[in-house]
Amino acid sequence: MKSYDAFLRYVLARAPKPCPQRVAVESALGRLLLDSVRAQVRDPAELRSAMDGYAVRHRDLKGAGKDTPVTLAAVGLSQAGPVPEKHLLPGQAHRIMTGAPLPAGADTVVQIERVRVTNRRVIFRAQPSRGAFVRRPGENFRKGALLIKRGTLMRAQEIGLCITAGVRHIEVARRLKVGVLATGNELVGPARRLRRGEVYDSNRPMVLALVAEVGATAVDLGVVQDDPTLLLRAVRRWTKQLDCLLTIGGVSMGDFDVVKQVLGDFPGVRLVKIAMKPAKPQAFGLLGDMIWYGLPGNPVSAMVAFDRFVRPILLRGMGRRAVHRPQHTGVLTTGIRKSTPLREFARAYAWQKGGTWYVRKVGPEGSSNLRSMVNANALLILPETARRIPRGARVRFELQAEPPAPLGS
Ligand code: AMP
Ligand code: MG
Repeated sequence: MKSYDAFLRYVLARAPKPCPQRVAVESALGRLLLDSVRAQVRDPAELRSAMDGYAVRHRDLKGAGKDTPVTLAAVGLSQAGPVPEKHLLPGQAHRIMTGAPLPAGADTVVQIERVRVTNRRVIFRAQPSRGAFVRRPGENFRKGALLIKRGTLMRAQEIGLCITAGVRHIEVARRLKVGVLATGNELVGPARRLRRGEVYDSNRPMVLALVAEVGATAVDLGVVQDDPTLLLRAVRRWTKQLDCLLTIGGVSMGDFDVVKQVLGDFPGVRLVKIAMKPAKPQAFGLLGDMIWYGLPGNPVSAMVAFDRFVRPILLRGMGRRAVHRPQHTGVLTTGIRKSTPLREFARAYAWQKGGTWYVRKVGPEGSSNLRSMVNANALLILPETARRIPRGARVRFELQAEPPAPLGS
């Protein structure tokens, strides 16, 4: 039996190297930047107004005060948008909107609320500071400035900043292409009435969803029967086209665990028993350049194995350095009796109150029952050496995605 930590190190060391790909900025959400982004243009491009008001020459308003008003002639109207260059002569005030370029000669903007306008005359009763409410060229950033460092995950704001800076294409890590193949004679599609012995193939859509959640491209490879020839044919067909093949089922001790029989013969493939619960039997290997990961068939085991190993491998292969979920410490609200010397990942529900995390184990037990995963928003991480963990003990856990609010609430 292999220790959990040793197996995790083993598989992570074999994660694919991220491949660069040039993409349009608009389609880069969730991708990891492999090359830093520099501004192609400065922002703003020219002097612009930061307010709706009047563009003036600062010099013209010298001495303006409550009892010493200054009156300028109202001329023109500038709104944001492409406009011909205008000139402001001494004694004039130019009506201007937020974002519009300042007319040549103007250096200051006075807010509309601060003036009185009568009969094409604008009356000022205060002296603004020079350059007030004016955005200067390059004030946000200069051309060539380093805006986003490589290694950054592209969010909405990074996309916006790239576009502001005149950047159209960026270099990101290519999405890995991940095939999902279910195995088992008992599996049938969702629309069928079940006959005796049949089971809906729930793992395949579930694992496809997990792959999509990680940001990789999920490829549905269907179901293959428990037949070595058929399985081998399916695997051969996909080796050259995928970065990673995930099979589901057939890796445990049963007589018909064909995944194990077929792939176990390939050099570079390891069938392992990992000192963990759930998901003890798993398989991992390289078929040429393709990673093959054999997830266990029980739904809870498949999900936990994906979360612990496949998710970090895929994230690493798409350039991420932090591939593990952040761990929290919480107060256990129900005692736990641990019966094995294994690293256990217990389905749990965690919540925060007054700045403290609380966490309780959720059921039902058994790795074939997905209802426990539906009740859970976290995985409790119980060390190998732990046996009795009393109520009130501090325990480590990782949050999974928050469950959506129940319908009708
Ligand atoms: P196996 O590891 O193939 O022996 O599968 C273990 C258990 O998981 C069996 O009860 C299978 O019926 C079930 N199982 C395997 N694959 C799937 C699947 N794709 N969807 C739902 N249940 C499955
Ligand atoms: Mg099976």
